[in-house]
Amino acid sequence: MTKTVEKNGIKGTANIIELEISGMTCTSCAARVEKKLNKLPQVATANVNFATEVATVTLTETDVAEPSVITELVKAVQAAGYRANLHEEREEKKQKNIYTVRLVASIVLLIPVAIFSFAPSIRPSSWKEIALVVAAVAVAYSGWPFHKATFVNLKHLAMSMDTLVSLGTLSAFIWSAVVTLANLNAPVYFDEAVGITAVILIGRFIEDKTKYQASDLLSSLFELGAKDVYVLRGDKEELIDIKQLKVDDIFVVKPGTKIATDGIVVGGSSAVDSSIITGESLPVEVGPGDQVIGATINTYGELHVRAEKVGGETALAEIAKLISEAQGKKANIQKLADRTSAIFVPFVVAAAVLTFLGWLLFGYGVNSAFIAGVAVLVVACPCALGLATPIALMVGISRGARLGILIRDPSVLENTRKVTTIIFDKTGTITDGHISVRQVVSLIPGNEKELLSLAASLEKSSEHLIGKAIYEYGLSEKVLLMKNDNFISVPGEGVLGEVAGDKIFVGKKNFLTQNSITIPESLNSIEQDFLDKKESVIFIGKNHEAIGLISLADRVKESAKEGIQAIKNLGIKPMMVTGDNEVVAHHIGGMVGIENIVANAMPGDKVGCIDGLQSQGEVVAMVGDGINDAPALTSADLSIGIGAGTDIALAASDITLMGGSLTAVAEAIMLSRKTLSVIKSNLIWAFGYNIVAIPLAMLQIINPLVSAGLMSFSSIFVVLNALRLKSFHLEKESHE
Ligand code: ADP
Ligand code: MG
Repeated sequence: MTKTVEKNGIKGTANIIELEISGMTCTSCAARVEKKLNKLPQVATANVNFATEVATVTLTETDVAEPSVITELVKAVQAAGYRANLHEEREEKKQKNIYTVRLVASIVLLIPVAIFSFAPSIRPSSWKEIALVVAAVAVAYSGWPFHKATFVNLKHLAMSMDTLVSLGTLSAFIWSAVVTLANLNAPVYFDEAVGITAVILIGRFIEDKTKYQASDLLSSLFELGAKDVYVLRGDKEELIDIKQLKVDDIFVVKPGTKIATDGIVVGGSSAVDSSIITGESLPVEVGPGDQVIGATINTYGELHVRAEKVGGETALAEIAKLISEAQGKKANIQKLADRTSAIFVPFVVAAAVLTFLGWLLFGYGVNSAFIAGVAVLVVACPCALGLATPIALMVGISRGARLGILIRDPSVLENTRKVTTIIFDKTGTITDGHISVRQVVSLIPGNEKELLSLAASLEKSSEHLIGKAIYEYGLSEKVLLMKNDNFISVPGEGVLGEVAGDKIFVGKKNFLTQNSITIPESLNSIEQDFLDKKESVIFIGKNHEAIGLISLADRVKESAKEGIQAIKNLGIKPMMVTGDNEVVAHHIGGMVGIENIVANAMPGDKVGCIDGLQSQGEVVAMVGDGINDAPALTSADLSIGIGAGTDIALAASDITLMGGSLTAVAEAIMLSRKTLSVIKSNLIWAFGYNIVAIPLAMLQIINPLVSAGLMSFSSIFVVLNALRLKSFHLEKESHE
């Protein structure tokens, strides 16, 4: 996985740099910057997101960028006609709407020309000359952003929506200027020239505002962290800026405040509300030795915490990074829109010319032919097309983050729609993983401590939840913990190694028999007793013989039943595949409502099970804790990792659920589907709009001013449509 590194004062995720790009007015600009960056030898891939105005650049060297590389990147962007900055201080970029002054100017200037055209009776004699001057100022000053962008595009032999606006307003203006100055007997279109400029600026203004509103959701995530913090210096508390906090500093968290950064509690106890990170609202009790995550909220007690991670290394920073990376990636569906946008503008210009020639050919006057051409230019809206996908992704992904759902790559959205079966792992996924040892049984009565000592000494090296439970039980029982040698973990089976000169095996019964260890009959009947109580049984073997067993029990997550029901409500079949035995598996399945169960499954069997379902035409999602379920996660069509707050960066799943809640699985799927449907409706709208509007303008059913209004509305519509995702909620959706 990516790792945050710092070198030469530049922070980045290993070899990924983010640049903030300004001056882009349309998605074709973004495409151009992207192309330019991709041509550089230092760049592996570059992705430019028009909605967030961020370029995510992956360098070929696996090291963090040198300043010289950054200069190269910035230069390349400048050569394309745009500006680039290192993307760091997000806060600065707030609400600076560059269109405000030009918009106000255009509206003021529109007043006299509008009066002239609507009230011919009060026109002064030299009204045309006055209108010429007013319109010249409006078109030149207010319309400047469009002309400038057109010029930049022209240098690259390219066109964008600015080209259309620019062409439309300039031709209306120049036509009218010629009529006025040469004193020809023809109508003038100064009101159109100024009106189109004003209307499109209004559109841009609103679009910008709503775009910021959408990105606000994201930046508020970056601003979730605490701003300052009380550090302990001696026994004095000192309030310092969060940036000055260093690893190993002890800081004080007052009741009701945010925890400054990731760390370990060294004093005090309280309950922590981690909903900001995990989406789970129930506070969790913490005390000395427990881990806490920055930006989560301390409820009632005062805590002393030793800082473990600061700045870009914290869980919150990692999450923010993952989100902006995800937003930089493209959903498959967008590629069609990208291809269309590229040929769209030249197509519209051609359509405008044809319209003009057509009307002339059919014997209509040059005036009406001309105005129809202008209407075609300004009604077409490539912007809605380009904005449709990124804006929906931006809002959808940010909303997910708020709910503790990390959608890591938008290309998985399609699969969330197709999923027919979801396979759940048992331990740590359906159960909460707080496994408790119920009983230790030794073949030699009275020898339980020795047995536990051997097992715990070996399991000390295990990552498995069962292993940890046995080791911790050993600790709490204060048994002798010895060093182990040649430790081997066999996923889905158990562990083996040498302890005190003996070969020790701890694992499922099969694991022992496969290793030619004999199981005495008496152990088999004891096992049956535990199975009757629905407890899991682990055997312990020493050299060639089983010497005892340990029974364990796990708790089903509170959210499990509801979560499985929510999955069923979505029409998806839940299934459980576990390495545990039949009895326990069916017992747990019965408690949560899963009928379809495969027990005694090896990690390889989990993969086989997925393959089997896939060959029957099922689209399979796998939900697991991401460590021993890794092979299955990778072969599933959609992988959902259930992780505890800090491990999220480790799980290489398509979607990561930061809280452990199983209802979040259904929620993640619903949100993904909803985001996809917003993208689709946006694209249908954008394509549909253009398909309908362009012919209407060609046929003179709508005039240039109405065209400009419609065009602006169509791009605002896609942004508003996307903003609906901002209030996404599972319960709300399931009632719809
Ligand atoms: P699950 O599918 O329920 O998450 P795993 O596939 O990880 O379970 O493991 C399957 C079985 O293998 C466990 O139920 C246990 O019997 C055995 N096992 C795995 N790892 C260990 C270990 N470290 N110590 C003891 N037994 C283990
Ligand atoms: Mg597991």
